[in-house]
Amino acid sequence: MKTLTNAEWFARAQRLFPGGVNSPVRAFGAVGGAPRFITRGEGAYLWDAEGQRLLDYVASWGAIILGHADEEVVEAVRSAAGRGTSYGTPTPGEVTLAELIQGAMPSLDRLRFTSSGTEATMSALRLARAYTGREKIVKFAGCYHGHADMLLVQSGSGVATLGLPGSAGVPAAATRDTLVAPYNDADAVADLFRHFPDQIAAVIVEPVAANMGLVLPQPGFLPALRELTAAHGALLIFDEVITGFRVGRGGAQELYGVTPELTCLGKVIGGGLPVGAYGGRREIMERVAPLGPMYQAGTLAGNPLAMAAGAAALHRLADVETYRTLEARTFRLAEGLRRALDGAVSVTQVGGMLTVFFRPAAPVNYAEAQQCDTPAFARFFHAMLERGILLPPSQFEAWFLTLAHGDEEIEATIDAAGGALA
Ligand code: PMP
Repeated sequence: MKTLTNAEWFARAQRLFPGGVNSPVRAFGAVGGAPRFITRGEGAYLWDAEGQRLLDYVASWGAIILGHADEEVVEAVRSAAGRGTSYGTPTPGEVTLAELIQGAMPSLDRLRFTSSGTEATMSALRLARAYTGREKIVKFAGCYHGHADMLLVQSGSGVATLGLPGSAGVPAAATRDTLVAPYNDADAVADLFRHFPDQIAAVIVEPVAANMGLVLPQPGFLPALRELTAAHGALLIFDEVITGFRVGRGGAQELYGVTPELTCLGKVIGGGLPVGAYGGRREIMERVAPLGPMYQAGTLAGNPLAMAAGAAALHRLADVETYRTLEARTFRLAEGLRRALDGAVSVTQVGGMLTVFFRPAAPVNYAEAQQCDTPAFARFFHAMLERGILLPPSQFEAWFLTLAHGDEEIEATIDAAGGALA
């Protein structure tokens, strides 16, 4: 095959896909320029179509935690593929992965696999409505829960990156029952419960918000949501698609000691293959078909390759030392970036992720995140890329580390950031 440059691939891709991509933020719209076409990954690095090596902080948007092309994950997928790629029947692999998840997150009495995080949140909300017999849901501005119609309201991530309030094509009726509160504002949620008594089925939240850049929950916020939902007969849903197996083995629910009724997962639990899951309290999950009346299904749900990759990844993450190592390295990188970028930025960090905000104080909600100097971020992004470091191409995303990001990579990143600032 003739080798093409990144620009040639992008030109071809633009004749095929809207914006040349299959997910909007990949197009570099917020930072300008053309995306790199990646042909290979290994450890902490990617290689583009022109053979340039890039130190990767996208990590498939958090799905990759061991590093690219991890030997055990690759071998698990290879071995599973050799036995057939999909059967449409129950498989032992589903049981194995589910038991690994449950062992780490005991609040998932029962769970169900889907093929994406979007399906997980969509289904968890359908279930919450089915269980409570109520229709309204509460979400937070700047939290992204996938692209289901009802959730595309002030939804952070790509929508924030493109500066859209929501999405065209979403019927007003689809979001009529979606109530939005500012992140870290439990009083606003209390007001919504007062205003809509016995009408709110669930509060869905990213327990650490990672789709407006990384915005940490302030002390008391998650416990207040726990109390409010319990007092008003609504379910608390943690969207741990990013935080699950990323901020620690037990996710944000373990880290902050707050247990939701339902949890949504994705990314890390699939070892880089397409997976989502939702689960929680048994009597709620038993409303799901075939046991109950809430319908939800998937041709490729619980796909054997994805189950094998996920199980290989979670086996490796079973050792608590892995999270201590990941956290320590990410903390060191955050500290180094704060020093290198001195004063101009704030850096938030938890577990294996961080965000450099071009704003002196770390934001606590979406309105504050939107005050960042996004042109400065775009310049920084390109200065880092010139130095061989690939950051997520938007101010409103988290950087993800993998266990393959060692001391050498962290020092190189801090040095590059100092140079990029200059
Ligand atoms: N929830 C959160 C918190 C996410 O970050 C994402 C995707 N980044 C989703 C849900 C949707 O997952 P997917 O892209 O797999 O549909």
